[in-house]
Amino acid sequence: MFKAGIIGLPNVGKSTLFSAITNLNVEIANYPFATIEPNIGTVCVPDERLDFISSVFKPKKTIYATIEFYDVAGLIKGASKGEGLGNQFLSHIRECDVLVEVIRCFENNDIIHVENNIDPKRDIEIINFELISSDLEIINKRIEKIKNKESSEFNLLKKIKSEIEKGLLIKDVNLDPEEKKIVKNLGLLSIKPIIYVANLDEKSLKNFFDNKFYKIVKEIADEFSIKVIPLSCELENQLSKLSCKEKKDFINLLKIESHLNKLIKNCYETLDLLTFFTVGTDECKAWTFKKGMVAVDCAGIIHSDFKKGFIKAEIYSFADFKIFQNEQIIREKGKVRLEGKNYPFQDGDIAFFKFNVSK
Ligand code: GDP
Repeated sequence: MFKAGIIGLPNVGKSTLFSAITNLNVEIANYPFATIEPNIGTVCVPDERLDFISSVFKPKKTIYATIEFYDVAGLIKGASKGEGLGNQFLSHIRECDVLVEVIRCFENNDIIHVENNIDPKRDIEIINFELISSDLEIINKRIEKIKNKESSEFNLLKKIKSEIEKGLLIKDVNLDPEEKKIVKNLGLLSIKPIIYVANLDEKSLKNFFDNKFYKIVKEIADEFSIKVIPLSCELENQLSKLSCKEKKDFINLLKIESHLNKLIKNCYETLDLLTFFTVGTDECKAWTFKKGMVAVDCAGIIHSDFKKGFIKAEIYSFADFKIFQNEQIIREKGKVRLEGKNYPFQDGDIAFFKFNVSK
């Protein structure tokens, strides 16, 4: 299962966001170290296509793709040197596939900021510095270990080191796929994709693009091709406790939008994750696969027998399903394709696998 880690300085709204996302009630307190153990929650990835498919098949079960969220708790200045609960936090980040960095853009004198004032640029720099420092430590140790046998890894690490010493995150260092493979297992942090959450106060939400703090975050994000989701963690948390109907009324009343689904979808997209579906009257289900995977691998996601005994896959697209809304008609129209092992799966494919267990 893919994991997204919510990171950021203390008191920026991480636990509030986590609570909103998972609807779990983690302790939400005005205290920097309230959340020591990482809280983990499994979240359904919203998918209007699956909603539609289910509305047609009316299955007993509808199963959404899921992503795991970690509430990693507060990174502070000096974490990479063991400050606060430093190294513990960093090791939790290591387990994540994508980092959701909450940046405080709301002002409230009652809620202390560890660095005293609201300054998104400084906060981003502190987090970057901590991630980079931790990576530098790992890289230096590794270089020390392999320095006697000059290798492509040695040269690569030297190159990365000189870039990140200038303040660049590894994700922004130009690495080809082969180079990425070499450093993949070193447990580096700043190589992970990042999404920013600009945590605004409710009042700024409607015209967030005019908010001075949001503008700062957006400018930095644009420079480094990072997505920014503007939202109010507090408001989202309140909304998440309401029923669907109440939520709709509230949203209409305040003329706002909930951006939580967008955030979850964005995590999915940032990780290059796509979805195929299996359908039927028993169960309609969304399955997660990585862009570029072929039919036989996608079969293996469902069951290893499907992969071992793979014969072929019957595929039609969600787009065709949307038009005809009936498998029989789709078949008659000749829109069901038979695909072999090496067919590259497409986002939104609806699949039925033929396999032979005795194979
Ligand atoms: P964490 O340390 O980053 O996990 O921060 P928390 O989620 O515990 O939030 C710290 C405090 O800030 C809590 O009292 C929250 O209620 C408050 N808070 C979080 N998000 C917002 C927000 O969007 N607006 C306002 N006004 N307060 C918030």
